[in-house]
Amino acid sequence: MSRADEIVDVLIIGAGAAGAAVAHSLVDTRMKILCLEQGDWVRPSDYPTNGRDWESRPDFSGSPNLRRRPADYPIDDSASPIKPVNFNGVGGGTILYMAHFPRFHPSDFCTRTLDGVGDDWPISYQNLEPFFAANDRVMGVAGLPGDPACPPKDGLLPPVPLGTLGETVARGFNALGWHWWPSESAIATVPYHGRGACLNLGPCASGCAQGAKASVDITYWPEAIRRGVELRTRCRVREITLDERGMARGAVYFDDAGIEHEQRAHVVIVACNGIGTPRLLLNSSSGRFPNGLANSSGLVGRNLMLHCMTLTQGTFERPLSGWQGPIGCSLWSKEFYETDVSRGYARGYTMEILRGSGPVATAQGGLMRGALPWGQGHHAAFRAMFDRTATIVAVGEDLPEETNRVTLDPNTSDSHGMPGVKVQYRLGDNSLRMLAHAGQRATEVLQAAGAVSVAPTLTEGISSGHAMGTTRMGVDPERSVTNAWGRCHDVRNLFIADSSLFVTAGGVNPTSTLQALALYVADQIKMRLDNLFD
Ligand SMILES: Cc1cc2nc3c(=O)[nH]c(=O)nc-3n(C[C@H](O)[C@H](O)[C@H](O)COP(=O)(O)OP(=O)(O)OC[C@H]3O[C@@H](n4cnc5c(N)ncnc54)[C@H](O)[C@@H]3O)c2cc1C
Ligand code: SF4
Repeated sequence: MSRADEIVDVLIIGAGAAGAAVAHSLVDTRMKILCLEQGDWVRPSDYPTNGRDWESRPDFSGSPNLRRRPADYPIDDSASPIKPVNFNGVGGGTILYMAHFPRFHPSDFCTRTLDGVGDDWPISYQNLEPFFAANDRVMGVAGLPGDPACPPKDGLLPPVPLGTLGETVARGFNALGWHWWPSESAIATVPYHGRGACLNLGPCASGCAQGAKASVDITYWPEAIRRGVELRTRCRVREITLDERGMARGAVYFDDAGIEHEQRAHVVIVACNGIGTPRLLLNSSSGRFPNGLANSSGLVGRNLMLHCMTLTQGTFERPLSGWQGPIGCSLWSKEFYETDVSRGYARGYTMEILRGSGPVATAQGGLMRGALPWGQGHHAAFRAMFDRTATIVAVGEDLPEETNRVTLDPNTSDSHGMPGVKVQYRLGDNSLRMLAHAGQRATEVLQAAGAVSVAPTLTEGISSGHAMGTTRMGVDPERSVTNAWGRCHDVRNLFIADSSLFVTAGGVNPTSTLQALALYVADQIKMRLDNLFD
């Protein structure tokens, strides 16, 4: 363990999906690497699925406002139709994620050139390709090779089973002649690197006690720690400090006893997620950076992208065995992923087919939609929906808009008195047209699959664990916060390594891409160790 007065070579802030990947990669250099994480390790025995109340445990809710663990910080989402979710602890969001693991498409990196919207990234899919593959090897990704909608990839584990529900919805896609393919999922469908194979029991989004789901506390971190990285938990960073030359000096953090320290470092890497990263930079203002650290562009916290989404649910006559298999992972359709101007909007979306919900979520969904009456008829209505519903989520590409943003919230604070955040987010016209299209297409699929009824599509109030764009990368310091390899334009030894760097959002879940990007950032640092600050 390093002493508090020791200067470490690299200080990583945040032990989630990106921080874990960066630490694992940089350990090759034999530098002294320390990671500070505001949350704790989660023990598999604490996961809700060890008890019968697994669907109703607020301490494992995705919403920090409901969860209210000491490690959480408040997120005021009242000005956003999409509700951000996360998890703060070793593993970050991967503790609760569904492990849906698509990659961005090559076109996602050049939307301005292709379609005249968004902006081009300073890097391409080809730059990230080796890092996608390296990440897949550590995480363990199940899928079926040969998806014609995606670039080829090797080394997939056997796909998760489609099950009755997946086969039923696939028949709907077949009837319409639309693309579908088994989803790619960061789930060990066979024993993998000491992890047990998936049991196909479904409650992945409250934590996988079996260890089949690739959360980074059981993939990247054990090896990174064995090879010398120090991970200090329950250490919340309040502020990144600067020296007299304007270089990052280290970070001020509260330890698990609430005592404040300054940890000095030669290089600081921030990986606190698309909301936590701008929060920390904005809270690190100084005379040199009165509007937030590394924020001479004014873009820290702006261009937030949460993905625009629809949720369309069909009810079927027969049971679908919807609880058999990982909840988020069955099949996807990329039929409407790439731009087709005749549809009236630019870019596109993936349709992802979710499995059935547990009894509590089924009842809550039924009540929300007014389909589950109280009193007479309640049980009959519940029986007609439980294990008889299939849900299509469309994950759509929302375009970067500077008015969609994260700001510090002076009205709320975390357990150490650091301000919470406010999310201001509006669905743009392009997103609204895309969502209308997606809802209609999902309804058609479910009808073609034999649904007896399809509920009106939801587009608001949906949760999203995808937060991107708030410290975007680029070549122009006036239009971006970091350069093409994650180094802040304003502070030459300060790096960002998470999805805050994204220039556009793609129409897929971000974790595979953000981890590949984190490995890319680490690789760029390794290649320049002799002249990192030039
Ligand atoms: C319910 C749910 C379902 C999801 N499903 C999917 C899915 O199926 N597929 C997919 O691709 N993605 C999914 N996601 C999103 C996925 O979890 C995130 O994309 C991913 O975890 C982001 O990685 P990250 O490293 O940027 O941030 P995180 O994983 O959020 O990690 C950031 C870490 O930084 C720590 N931190 C923040 N601020 C500080 C501070 N000031 N001091 C110290 N530590 C700090 C946090 O505690 C946290 O542990 C889901 C998320 C949720 C919540
Ligand atoms: S279905 Fe598989 S991945 Fe999901 S919680 Fe169960 S064992 Fe884990």
